[in-house]
This record gives sequence, C-alpha cells and structure tokens, in this order.
Amino acid sequence: MDRPSYEVNVAEFRYEPVGHCIYCGDSSSFLTLEHIIPLNLVGHLKLPKASCSVCQKVTHAFETEFAKATRGFRYRLGIKARKPKKRVHVHTVTINDGHRKREIQIPTEDFPKLLSIPELVLPRILTGASDNDLGRIWNGVDLRDMRAFADRYGGQEATFAKYDVATFLRLVAKVAHAYAYAAIPRSELSSYNLLLGDFIRTGEGDPLYLIGGGRQQLDKVKDLHQIELLTLERSTDELLVCRLRLFAALGAPEHHVVVGIREKREA
Ligand SMILES: [Zn+2]
Repeated sequence: MDRPSYEVNVAEFRYEPVGHCIYCGDSSSFLTLEHIIPLNLVGHLKLPKASCSVCQKVTHAFETEFAKATRGFRYRLGIKARKPKKRVHVHTVTINDGHRKREIQIPTEDFPKLLSIPELVLPRILTGASDNDLGRIWNGVDLRDMRAFADRYGGQEATFAKYDVATFLRLVAKVAHAYAYAAIPRSELSSYNLLLGDFIRTGEGDPLYLIGGGRQQLDKVKDLHQIELLTLERSTDELLVCRLRLFAALGAPEHHVVVGIREKREA
C-alpha cells in the first residue's frame, strides 16, 4: 500500500511575538503561542505571545472538531498526529443499509482516502451579491478505496466524518487572521480595520461576506497547504486578502478570506 508522508517538509518558522491577544486584544493576561495552521494539520508557522487563554480555548475547540473529522483520512495518508501515543487506530463509521443505520469500527488501513471540504463562491464583499450562496462540497476521493470499503463492510451508504461548515469557516478565518500578523509588518497591519476577530471568538456574524472560495479548479501541488497574503485595491479602499488552500497537495479548493480593510491612500 502506498503511504506517502506529508510530515515536516517545510522548515518551522517562528515569527516575532505579538504581545497581545490577536482575537480580543487583551494584553494583561498570560499569552500563548499560536500555530497559524493547527499543529494537527501539520502547521509549522508559529506566532508567539498571540492568544489569551480564553480565546485559546475557543480556537482549540473548533480546531479539534475539524481535526477529529479529518483524522481517519489524515492517518491513512500518514499526516502525523501531534502526540503519537494518543493516536487512535480505530475509527467510527456510520453505515446505512437502506432501512437502518449502524456504527462500525474500522482500522486506519481500511479508512478510505476521502476528504470533504466546502467549495465556496467568492466572498460577497467582492461580488456585491446580496444572498448567500453556500457553494458545494468538494470531495477528494479514491474510488478504489471506496469500492474496497463497500466490498468489506457492505451497506448502501457510509458517513466517514462530519463537521459543520461554520466550524470550517472559523478555522480558515483564524488561520488567515493569524497569518496577517505574521506576514506583514505590524505597523502596516495597524492601518487596517481587522474584520474577523469577533467571528473567530463567537462564531456570530456574516462569515460568507468575508470568506469565500476561488474561481477555478486547481491542480495538486507539492506543498500540503498553501497560504499567501495579498492586497486588493478597489476604487476607494484596499482589502487585505488571505489566499488559503488547506490540503492543496490533495487538490482541495482554495479559500479567499478578507482579513482587513482600509481607506485607499493617496498616490
Ligand atoms: Zn483573547
């Protein structure tokens, strides 16, 4: 069986400490180091002194939900867990026989290579659309694996993992927001009105106004994830946009996250 490993092929990078919580602004309490992309998704970009303990609990909760939902798939591909001792070797799958559902436990080697990621339309701030379009779900799937699974375990339908789209949106918002602190000078960042802190902390707001997808189908690339920050000039303002592609190596779609906005400067 082929088992590519996506572990540590990028250097760790530690950015300058922030000195206040990047989500709520608190600078008086103990601040922890943020992994810009969660460590259990093999993130190596570190932002020291960037989160208070309250916000750390909040971000940890939605990061963990996504990590659990992608666990069988990640282990199957050899995308390594944070604590090898904690690694589980059986995964719960729900099978639907047509008239009833049942849960079964399967070992990692039987877990199909199947990854589901929301594929969104452009954020509404860019399109001016007034209605939310939820896009669709992108499925990266190995059909041989799925056939092997059906042959072994039966059933007409199986559910391998579940997570809320809202959980995913908070995760990409968090990654983009934290990356802005890393990728551009803080004096430059402070000229922007940062837009995502409240949504990351509370899950409330209008995320599809600021978070969306790219336009085209993208090829698989060598890096597991891709992230970059760009500015988008419009007639009267400038947007700070993070282009994020989690699981780019597997052909997953990209997301565009509008992190900040400022009035356009005179040339
Ligand atoms: Zn905080």
